[in-house]
Amino acid sequence: MEYNDYREKIGLIKQGTLSLTSNVEGFLSRIEKEKHLNAFNFVFKDAVERASEIENKILEGKAGKAAGLVVAVKDNISIKNKPLSCSSKILENFQPVYTATAVQKLLDEDAIIIGKTNCDEFAMGSSNENSAFGPVLNPYDNSRVPGGSSGGSAVAVAANLCDVALGSDTGGSIRQPAAFCGVYGLKPTYGRVSRYGLTAFASSFDTIGPFAKNLNDLTLLLNIISGYDEKDSTSQKSGEINLTENVSKSTIKIGLPKEYFGEGLNPEIKTRIEEIINRLPSDNFEIIDISLPHTEYAIATYYILTTAEASSNLARYDGVRYGFRSKDSATLKDMYENTRTEGFGKEVKRRIMLGTYVLSSGYYDAYYRKAQKARRLFKEDFINAFKQADILLTPTTPTTAFKIGEKSTDPLEMYLSDIYTTSANLAGIPALNIPVGFDANGLPIGMQLMAPELKEPELLNAAYLINKFL
Ligand code: GLN
Repeated sequence: MEYNDYREKIGLIKQGTLSLTSNVEGFLSRIEKEKHLNAFNFVFKDAVERASEIENKILEGKAGKAAGLVVAVKDNISIKNKPLSCSSKILENFQPVYTATAVQKLLDEDAIIIGKTNCDEFAMGSSNENSAFGPVLNPYDNSRVPGGSSGGSAVAVAANLCDVALGSDTGGSIRQPAAFCGVYGLKPTYGRVSRYGLTAFASSFDTIGPFAKNLNDLTLLLNIISGYDEKDSTSQKSGEINLTENVSKSTIKIGLPKEYFGEGLNPEIKTRIEEIINRLPSDNFEIIDISLPHTEYAIATYYILTTAEASSNLARYDGVRYGFRSKDSATLKDMYENTRTEGFGKEVKRRIMLGTYVLSSGYYDAYYRKAQKARRLFKEDFINAFKQADILLTPTTPTTAFKIGEKSTDPLEMYLSDIYTTSANLAGIPALNIPVGFDANGLPIGMQLMAPELKEPELLNAAYLINKFL
């Protein structure tokens, strides 16, 4: 599809050079052709009818800010009267009765939703292998994972099955798959985007965020979905982001946290990122070495707190209220037990057990309370770092995309693939993946930028400027 970004697309539609209906038909036939990637759980064929309505609105000059933008939505985000599975058997045949605020805002601006994307079950995973719909394949090498949990959304964008996509990020689930698939992916500040309609995994970490092929589309999508929502008491007001604003007026101080460049980082990723840092001109950028001293505790803290929250959030799936119910149970208690035994996958059960354990009265102080205290230390690490630097620059992942099956038998090994991403969720700050090239096997390499809370304008403008030196 012959345009570089949405701005160009809408221009072509207005000129009459591009038909929105055939654009959407084109995406639908590509989805069909690339079916083996398994990026979508559900595809909405009625997107074509909506395209023709919106095309008329565009030509009449009455269309919204995202008119004709074709969006794929992670299947843990609600759309009224469409299936919502969270890639879990326990939500079999479930359809929500309301639409997530982020999706509603897109619909109000005349975007077109093309389908729901595959993900790890309840967004728990780093490889998209924990899905009742089967694994998603990396478009660069079909024997490799796309990352997770928002693997389907990353692949939908990377394989050009849509313009942009929504994902969710609790500990890296937007940035890590974006890195593995060579696209842009942003985890916004906690609360910048309403969580209303996002299926809760770990409520104090969960965020909805955008995937895109370029920064313009990413910014457009973020601007539309952001904002205070009375249906989410943790949501916050935020201003409009303008990408050309403020670029290169003063030097940007880039902090390099030493803990992110040590042992475990693939040398090719390290070399590529160092090469980029060396290319940044000194009249625009000042490079500063900094430290985030508690980094080594991030994964442990993250898994204590998120499993605790998950064990509580997932108590609602009991066979009574949603989707799947086990047949032939003698008593109510059996029905609960059988439904959860048959309905949840292995990783989800592991997390419910871990979470129940860390919250149990005998262990609460030793694990849960301790981890809450540790969380404060991560926040302080970042507060101190941002006294010295405007933006932090790190790798997004320690390796490029790994093989399907390579880590699925070793949960700890799998958890370590989020070593550079979980800290931003612990601290609630925004973080962006930028695709910065390929390794010797032709697999995408990702670089991460982080900024203080609600400083997405500075974050995206720094990315915009850095892009010129890639
Ligand atoms: N991979 C991490 C996990 O398994 C992050 C998941 C996410 O961000 N939703 O918890």
